[in-house]
Amino acid sequence: MHYSDSLEQSSEYLRMAISHMGRFQIPYDPTNYSVWYEYVSGKNEKLRVDIDTILAESKCITPEFMTRLYEKYIAIDEKIIMEKIRRELRAILEKILHHIADAEGQFKNFSDVIERYSQDLTEDLDIESVARVVDGILSESKNIVLSGAQLQERLQASTDEVEKLSRNIEQIREQATTDLLTGIKNRRYLVNVFSEEARRVAENGGDLCLIMADIDHFKRINDTYGHLMGDKVLKTTAEVLKDSVKGRDHVVRYGGEEFVILLPDTPLTGALILADKICGYFKNLNWKRKDTSQFIGPVHLSFGVARYRENETLEKLIQRADRALYHSKHTGRCRVTCETDLDTGDRITA
Ligand code: GH3
Ligand code: MG
Ligand code: MG
Repeated sequence: MHYSDSLEQSSEYLRMAISHMGRFQIPYDPTNYSVWYEYVSGKNEKLRVDIDTILAESKCITPEFMTRLYEKYIAIDEKIIMEKIRRELRAILEKILHHIADAEGQFKNFSDVIERYSQDLTEDLDIESVARVVDGILSESKNIVLSGAQLQERLQASTDEVEKLSRNIEQIREQATTDLLTGIKNRRYLVNVFSEEARRVAENGGDLCLIMADIDHFKRINDTYGHLMGDKVLKTTAEVLKDSVKGRDHVVRYGGEEFVILLPDTPLTGALILADKICGYFKNLNWKRKDTSQFIGPVHLSFGVARYRENETLEKLIQRADRALYHSKHTGRCRVTCETDLDTGDRITA
């Protein structure tokens, strides 16, 4: 989004946006802030209508609703950027075709001239005439070499433009799959990477497991220490999760205070060992505020673990991990439940 409001005007919008976010207990993150900024500034009529409808029905404004609005009305910027890139690419391709056509014309001229000289040589020529033909061929050849160099130069310039565009696309791709608050990958990334990993399982076999983790009583952290502290806890949790995995494992912020770890080439036993390890790490971690050095008490996580079944959708796999997670929540939290535990009630670790 691109805003050009004056400092005074934008400060007023900022104040109003924050007041709304406080009123509905919406976390102060960039996504939510953008939604409320658009709302209070009246820049986005449809977004405003959607929020007003929910308010009129006295329904709750949830972070999930905020994310939906962001994706529906604000992330559209991305579509505009992609359209611009498509246009630029089309222009470059047209330029390349034009250069080639241009060069073709020059090569065609060259071949006509050579053809003419070759016909001249069939006649009985004196030395002066032969010298003229030789000079002519030499000069035409030099011209065509120059045209070739010019074509090469022009094509090089177009290649440079395409490379610049490709770097832009890579940057946009990176932004689109990164969670703004924590800097780790987001749900969109999970969707992409899951289909790649599922394809790999179909081709090569092997196991693919998914761990779903949810911070326990996170609302309390927000309520006790404020949303900014809540955000910091989310960032640190994301860092710890990321540091807990290796190589090809993928850590994703799935939503609010939920994270997903996708583990290629990992059997259920391996995924459970990892989930137990992370669970134990958080259990023993003492959280201290950086600014005041005050302890804020433990931050625990609950886990659900499931193994991918060939040809199933990501939704199905997540559903089973989520059921296991739900079980962890309802049997005391700060624990790991495997999807198979739900049938046998056996292996539930604290
Ligand atoms: P449980 O142990 O059952 O998981 O309880 P909980 O309090 O963790 O779960 P609940 O779903 O009740 O609350 C989650 C809270 O997380 C509510 C929501 O405002 C907060 N939240 C979601 N996203 C963010 C965020 O980006 N920043 C902050 N600070 N809070 C967030
Ligand atoms: Mg929670
Ligand atoms: Mg949750």
